[in-house]
Amino acid sequence: MHQTLQKYFGYTEFRVHQEDIIRDVLDKKDTFVLMPTGGGKSLCYQLPALLMEGLTIVISPLISLMKDQVDSLRSNGIAAAYLNSTQSFAEAEKITTAILDGRIKILYMAPERLLMSQTIKLLEDAKVSMFAVDEAHCISEWGHDFRPEYRRIRTLRQRFPQVPIIALTATATAKVQEDITGQLNMAGYNTYKASFDRPNLLYQVWPKQDAYDKLLSYLEKCRGNSGIIYCQSRNMVDTLTKKLQRSAFRALPYHAGLSDIQRARNQESFIKDDTDIIVATIAFGMGIDKPNVRFVIHYDLPRNLEGYYQETGRGGRDGLACDCILFFSHGDRYKIEYFINKKNSKKEQDIALAQLRAMTNYCESQTCRRGVLLSYFGEDVGGKNCGKCDICISPRETFDGTGAAQKLLVCVQELDQRFGMNHVIDVLVGSKNKKITTKRHHLLKSHEAGRDYSKAQWQAIAREMIQQGVLRVEGTRYPLLTLNHDSMEILDGNQAVSLVKPTKERQIIRRKENMPAETGLFDRLKRLRKTLADRKNLPPYIIFSDTSLKQMASDLPGTHQEFLDITGVGENKLIKYGDAFLAEIAEYMAGKGHITGKPVQSHKLPRDIQGSLSDTQQETLNLYRQGLTIQQIANTRSLSASTIVNHIEKLIMAGEIDSIDEWVDVHKQQAIQKAISDVGTEYLSPIKEKLGDDCMYNEIKLVRATVMAAACQV
Ligand code: ADP
Ligand code: ZN
Repeated sequence: MHQTLQKYFGYTEFRVHQEDIIRDVLDKKDTFVLMPTGGGKSLCYQLPALLMEGLTIVISPLISLMKDQVDSLRSNGIAAAYLNSTQSFAEAEKITTAILDGRIKILYMAPERLLMSQTIKLLEDAKVSMFAVDEAHCISEWGHDFRPEYRRIRTLRQRFPQVPIIALTATATAKVQEDITGQLNMAGYNTYKASFDRPNLLYQVWPKQDAYDKLLSYLEKCRGNSGIIYCQSRNMVDTLTKKLQRSAFRALPYHAGLSDIQRARNQESFIKDDTDIIVATIAFGMGIDKPNVRFVIHYDLPRNLEGYYQETGRGGRDGLACDCILFFSHGDRYKIEYFINKKNSKKEQDIALAQLRAMTNYCESQTCRRGVLLSYFGEDVGGKNCGKCDICISPRETFDGTGAAQKLLVCVQELDQRFGMNHVIDVLVGSKNKKITTKRHHLLKSHEAGRDYSKAQWQAIAREMIQQGVLRVEGTRYPLLTLNHDSMEILDGNQAVSLVKPTKERQIIRRKENMPAETGLFDRLKRLRKTLADRKNLPPYIIFSDTSLKQMASDLPGTHQEFLDITGVGENKLIKYGDAFLAEIAEYMAGKGHITGKPVQSHKLPRDIQGSLSDTQQETLNLYRQGLTIQQIANTRSLSASTIVNHIEKLIMAGEIDSIDEWVDVHKQQAIQKAISDVGTEYLSPIKEKLGDDCMYNEIKLVRATVMAAACQV
């Protein structure tokens, strides 16, 4: 098992439960696996598939994901294929033949396909070793993503009773689990449940004031990183995307109002790292496995924690840090309440309101965010400091709030526990509004008793007391403040209350970049990865994950054996990509020694590219960031292409553009770099002379700019 793990997947260790699960599968036991997104479910069936005789069938609901999954397996040298409706008859025939010849180990299929008579025939002839049911919650009506076709898997079970089933999901309440195992008629199975904690996600809630400015200053600091911004409405998505594009971010929209083609194109652009930011309604994210999502921002309040958790789960699948930021305002909460109250069924309304309340509690929590989230999903993490949420990182100062709490409780008592928060607070601060005067509440002892705090402060106090469980809210539609046992203890002076001091805005916390020792090299390896990926029309992460590149940039492997020690490098990837990456690393190290040692050639900047960016250069940069080619930029601006090249030269120097791979082939870049290191950067013609007619002046200019930019950084 360990050998296979290293040879095909390039990993040295199993994650929690993986080994036990694989053993069960190899023993032909039915198995139920519950792991969070990014937990490593796929390996649980992919690895045993390689060790078992025959064919493993993976049932997966998303046709859009299959190609990626199969590409990824193939890049590891594993014989995988899929059968679905996107293929031509001829393609499908080819795969069928390969299956019957025993040349395929893992086959992906959507459930629709399963019970077609020719599929059944194929499975009977092919000797199936195991069925893996991915996203198994789709089988249950109780889940959030029920797919009627998934019920067909049951019939399959009846036809192939001796073939073991492994069912996997990231979302399962007890009810859903029962449903899955019952539907699939799983017998004597083991259940493996991993913790749903994702320690690399940094949870934080920001007050939604000046939200756009806050967002912008955050994004400025992580330009070039991939991330998703969720909004509640299409309108908001469009507005925000435009604003970000105007600020020269590579951002694209995603929502149900766009055509299928446009949506697919935007998603593809994101997956291929051509776009950094997707601004989306909740529709986005199902069906993408992009591992290097570095931030997930909720610009508007989500409706429930289930959705919120799932959306943040799309961040940091590669195990590296991801910021999960939620902008919270009560205004958003009222908006959602308004929509909920328009629902027809009372039952639906109540469920939705309860979910919204849990969501709001999370935002207002003064205790660890992770703790609140996980306990909502039934996991007890104990009250320890997680060190990776805004609350735990900068705990708030508290004060003895017993006196304030008592005032509030007395007021609730005087009002016979029959009023909501706003009215209670109005009484406390001494308002004489109509409701108060008609009910003669201005005559109560509590009236004006709370002048020492503002209305907003009382609201904060009340919410915190609710959070702490020393004050209750009853009813969903017109929630009333009521007292419980703890409230009475406080009123009797037997219990103290500690409250959070009202403070100024908290500072913005950002995930700590786990930067490798050689950042410059990391960027170069990323560029190389992108070039290779584009050449093969694959998403870059299928070649190597960021985790692998980071390790390369810090371990600096120099031999094949050392390269194999990098996580994610198996034999196949060593053969396919090893030399290209090793060469890049070696060259970087050589260049670095050269520059940090004694520079032989001067890297003086030509006069025309010194100083700060001009407007016209800035304009070119904006268009470049929107994905336009040099010629398109030239056309749009009615300028010549060579003028645009001059701009780009300057932009490279200024550190605004760091890859020229889209314009100059990497090998050519290497040749030009070599010529430059021989004759220096000052003049173009000697460089050109060394290289001959193969190289254009424009190409030399661009490479020269990258060389000088690198030299300046060092
Ligand atoms: P899930 O299907 O549970 O969402 P994946 O199977 O996609 O998660 O795995 C998430 C990431 O973790 C992938 O990049 C995968 O290659 C990586 N991974 C899985 N198992 C291991 C392991 N034992 N060691 C290192 N990385 C692993
Ligand atoms: Zn915490």
